[in-house]
Amino acid sequence: MSHKDPPRSREKHRHADDHHHEGSALSEMDLRVRALESLLTEKGYIDPKALDILIETYEHRVGPHNGARVVAKAWSDPAYRQWLMDDATAAIASLGYAGRQGEHMVALENTPAVHNMVVCTLCSCYPWPVLGLPPVWYKSAPYRSRAVIDPRGVLKEFGFELPPEVEFRVWDSTAEVRYLVVPMRPPGTDGMSEEALAALVTRDSMIGTGLPLAPGGSDQELA
Ligand code: FE
Repeated sequence: MSHKDPPRSREKHRHADDHHHEGSALSEMDLRVRALESLLTEKGYIDPKALDILIETYEHRVGPHNGARVVAKAWSDPAYRQWLMDDATAAIASLGYAGRQGEHMVALENTPAVHNMVVCTLCSCYPWPVLGLPPVWYKSAPYRSRAVIDPRGVLKEFGFELPPEVEFRVWDSTAEVRYLVVPMRPPGTDGMSEEALAALVTRDSMIGTGLPLAPGGSDQELA
């Protein structure tokens, strides 16, 4: 592969610089990302239209709201819950969520006796179709090691504590299997619609580093 700069590259750079005034609110990170995008486009490594489709997909179509719908349905519909536990990939796909990094899903159900937490100790494997892209902390070395050594401590750092008798189970994602934690349905939510329930299901509660919100949208108070 030849990586020679096209002759017009310098001119294009100046052009891009001229536009910096418009984005006065851009953060350092935004600027870096823009610079990288311009460079890769200019060198012909990426197609900006394809990039727009990807960004649109991961900003609006794919994200924790998908997983929240799965959990809310499992809370509301016992038959669906059973299907999810038996064959998570199919049950999740039935709601339209499938694709890369979600080809083999396993649902883990939290109970009063067991709390599940998901990590990828090796890198950052994550169930994209239901949770979107992983948060920065999920990919960080401290989380990847501490989730295994001290999951209870990790949960505490996220602001939650569970009774000492609750057993913690930590699941290490692999290139093949991706996990979705089904948190416990919060008390006081009887009769709520699936849509209203889904609004209580946080991203972190589906990783096991948090709990769903209480009705009304505040954090659950736990003994
Ligand atoms: Fe990984």
